[in-house]
Amino acid sequence: MVLRKTKLKSKIPDKRTVTTGESHSQPQPQCRPSDEFVMPLRPSPVPRFRKCPRIWAAILLGLLSGSAGLAQSDAAHPINSTPVVLITVDTLRWDRLGCYGAHSVRTPAMDTLAAQGARFENALAQVPITFPSHTVILSGTYPMYNGARHYTSPHLLPSVGLLPEAFQRHGYDTAAFVSSFVLNSSWGLNRGFQVYDDHFGLQQNVTRNPEEVERRADETVGHLLAWFQARAQRDLAPRPFFVWLHLYDPHSPYDPPEPFHGQYAGRLYDGEVAYADSQLARLFDYLRQSGLYDRTLIVLLADHGESLGEHGEDEHGFFIYNSTLHVPLIFKLPRGEGAPRVVRRLVGTIDVAPTILELLHLRDPLSQQFQGNSLASDMLGKGATSARPGYSETYYPRDSFGWSELRCLTTDRFKYIQAPHPEVYDLTKDPQELRNLYGERTTLAAAVREQLMGIERRYSSTQTAAVGPPLPPETIEKLRSLGYLAYLAPVQPASAGPLPDPKDRLKVYKAIQRARLLNSVGRSEEAKALLETLASEEPHFYLIPFLQAESFAQAHRWDDAERSYLACLKLNPAFEQAIMGLAYLYLRDEADAAKAKPWLDLAVHRNPHNITAYYNLGVIARWEKNNQEAYRYFLKAVEENPGYANSQQELGITLVDLKRYKESLGPLSRAESLGQEDPRLDHYFGTALANVGRFKDAVDHYQKALKLKPDFAEARLSLALTYLNLGDRPDATREFRTLCRQNGSLCEQYRQQFE
Ligand SMILES: [Zn+2]
Repeated sequence: MVLRKTKLKSKIPDKRTVTTGESHSQPQPQCRPSDEFVMPLRPSPVPRFRKCPRIWAAILLGLLSGSAGLAQSDAAHPINSTPVVLITVDTLRWDRLGCYGAHSVRTPAMDTLAAQGARFENALAQVPITFPSHTVILSGTYPMYNGARHYTSPHLLPSVGLLPEAFQRHGYDTAAFVSSFVLNSSWGLNRGFQVYDDHFGLQQNVTRNPEEVERRADETVGHLLAWFQARAQRDLAPRPFFVWLHLYDPHSPYDPPEPFHGQYAGRLYDGEVAYADSQLARLFDYLRQSGLYDRTLIVLLADHGESLGEHGEDEHGFFIYNSTLHVPLIFKLPRGEGAPRVVRRLVGTIDVAPTILELLHLRDPLSQQFQGNSLASDMLGKGATSARPGYSETYYPRDSFGWSELRCLTTDRFKYIQAPHPEVYDLTKDPQELRNLYGERTTLAAAVREQLMGIERRYSSTQTAAVGPPLPPETIEKLRSLGYLAYLAPVQPASAGPLPDPKDRLKVYKAIQRARLLNSVGRSEEAKALLETLASEEPHFYLIPFLQAESFAQAHRWDDAERSYLACLKLNPAFEQAIMGLAYLYLRDEADAAKAKPWLDLAVHRNPHNITAYYNLGVIARWEKNNQEAYRYFLKAVEENPGYANSQQELGITLVDLKRYKESLGPLSRAESLGQEDPRLDHYFGTALANVGRFKDAVDHYQKALKLKPDFAEARLSLALTYLNLGDRPDATREFRTLCRQNGSLCEQYRQQFE
C-alpha cells in the first residue's frame, strides 16, 4: 500500500524586532513545528531542478574541466574511441521485461536493445539495496571489500576505485545523471565523474517531500540529452564518453504519469516500468539520430528487483530471495560486434565493470581490484569462462533492527542462505524458493556454507571494516522521506547470544513499516493503536517507543512523547534520532531551551558531524543573547557543511549583530546563492551593506525583503533611513508614510528624522 505524502509549505519566522543598523531578530530552531511534527526542519523554498540554473553552471564547469583526464593518456594508454552508456534502472524486476518473457508490460526500448545484444538470463545482484548495489556495479568489488553494505554505510573510502576514474585516465569525458537522493554525491559514488548531475545535495533543507529527493525519468533523461547537445555544440563530440544514467521510477511509491497511470491502473509498479522504458526510448532515439547508437556500448541492468509481496516482503532490502536479487542484464555491443545471444549461466552485477573494460580493451590499474569476472567471451562467442557461484547479502536487518544479517551463495542449481535458520533451495525445481531443503540436504548445505565463508575470507578488506561516523540527521530524514527505515540498532555483545532470524521478525518489520507510514501521513491514532499492540509483544525493541514518541508528538501529547523518547534511549542510548527527537521536543518553546541543550551536546559528542545539532545550539545561544557562543556554533555548522543555507544565514546574521559587518557579507551572500529566500536574510544583508557604506546595494536587499513580506515594518524603516542616507528625501518620505500606516509605534519613534 502506498500512502502519499503531502507537500509542505515554507514558513516565515514570525519573531522580528529588527531595526535598522542594530538588528536583534532570532533564528528559528531547526525542529519540528507543532502543526507539522513529522517534519524535523523548517523547509526553505527548494528550487525544483528544472528551474535551477546552478546545475547548468555545474555541467558547463564539468565540461570545461574535462580535459584533465587527457594528460594521463599516453602511448601506453591509447584513447579508445568507443563511447559507453551504462543504464541502471532502480528496482526493476527481470520478469517485467518483454525480452524476459513478460506479456503484460510494454518495454519495446529495452526489448530492442536485448534483441541487438547479449541478454543474461541469470544475473544476480550482490546486494538488494540501491547504494551498496551501485557500489558493486561501479567498483567491481564485493561489499565486504568496498564497505558499502547499507543505507547508513560510511562515505566510500578513496581506496576503492571506481569505473569512471578508469575512463577518465583514458581520456574519456565522464558524466552521471542520477534520479534519487540515495545516490547523491555525498555517498562518494561521484568520484571520477566530471559531471555528477544529482541535485539532491545536502544544501537543500530537510524535507519529507519525496518530490524533492527523487525525480522522474523524463527530467533525468532530459538533463542527459541536454548534456549531449551541449557537447555537440561545443565540438566535444569527437571525445569518447562514459555516461551513467540512473532511473528511479519503479521504486515505491508507484505513481507513473499518464497515460501509464491509466493504462496500468491496479498494477502501477508495471506502469512505472513501462514509463521508464518510454524514456529510455527517448534516449535511444537521440543516440540513433546523432549517429552514436551503433558505435556505443550500452549496458542496462537493475540494482535489484522488488518483492511485491513474495515471501511476505513488499519492497526490497530485507530478504535475499531471487525476487529482489535476480535482475535483468543486457549488453548492446558497439558496431554490431558479437551476434545477438542469450547467456544462461549464472553471473553477477559484480561482473559488469570487468566486462566493460575488457570489451573496450582498456588496460587500467582498476582491474587489479576486480573481484568479478569479465563476461566478454560469453558475448563474443569465444567460449564461456567457468561458472562461479554468486555471493549476495543484506545487512539491513542487522544494522537497522538488530536482527541477523543474511548472506547467500547461489550455484547453478542450489541456493544456500546463511541465517540463524539456514535455507537451501533447489532452484531448478523450485525457482520461487518456497521449499526449504535444509533439513534434507545437510551435507550439501555444509559444503556450500564452507564455500561462502571462503569467499568472505578471500574478498574482505580490513580497511573498510571500520565503521564511519553516523549519518547526519538531515540525511536520515531524506532517506525516510523515500520510505527507507534507516535506523541504527544497538550493537549486540556476543554474549547476548544469536541474533533473531529476520524470517521470524517479518511481522514486526511490517508493522513498524506500516506505523511509520501512518505517522508520515498524519494518521497518528492508527499508528498508536498498532504500536501499542506491538509494544506488548516486543517490550525490548527500541524502535517501538521511538515510533510511539513520533505518534505522540504528532498528536501534540508532549509529555507522552518525552516519556517514549526516554524509554527508547534506555534501550538504545546511542540512537541519534531519538536524542535529536527529544531535543526537538524541547526546542518548541524558548523556555525549554535549557532542557534541549544537554541532548544537543550529547548529539555532537556522539557525532561531531551533526550540523543540525550545532545549528540548534547556535539558536539556543541566540535565545540566551550570547552571540559570541552562537557565532562559534554556527561557524562549526558551516565548517561541517558549507552548503547548508540556514547555517550560512544565521552565521551572517549573528556577525551583523556582533557588528562585524564586513565579515558577515560572505556567509550572507553564500546563503543567498544557495537559494535561501527569507525576508530576514535580506533585511540583515541590507543592514550589513548599509553599515559598510554600500547604500544602493542595501536598498536592493531591503526592497527584496519587502517583496517577500510587504508588511515587514523594520525592513520598511531601514529602507526609508537608507534613502535618507542617500539624500533621496522623496523616496524616504514615501516609504516612511507606508510604515506609519503599518506600524504606529515604530512610526512615532522615528518621526523626527523624517520631518
Ligand atoms: Zn535501488
